[in-house]
Amino acid sequence: MDAGAVRTCRRGTCANSIPAALASEQLCLDHFLDEALVRTTDTLTRCRDQRPLTRAELEWLLNDALLIVKNLEEGAGKPVPEQRERMLDLLLMLANLHEYVAHHSIRLDRPA
Ligand SMILES: [Zn+2]
Repeated sequence: MDAGAVRTCRRGTCANSIPAALASEQLCLDHFLDEALVRTTDTLTRCRDQRPLTRAELEWLLNDALLIVKNLEEGAGKPVPEQRERMLDLLLMLANLHEYVAHHSIRLDRPA
């Protein structure tokens, strides 16, 4: 993948450029954070309802966390306080979710 290519967010009306860490998502940071927040909130709700998670969902959440960390590292020299705060909030939620999965015997759907 050409990390140097400047591409714009795949959300139709959005003209923001995509940070290198999010090249695989084809989303700008704001939209990535929007989507990741929805995913994380949904999954937390499901955990609390004792509904099973799939392995793919769990991997997705782990991937979200890794992408956020990568972004934080890349943005270290030019922090945008609001985005930084959103990333840290989301990381905290993801950490809580992983704790929840680890301590509440959340069932994972296994492929047959
Ligand atoms: Zn965008």
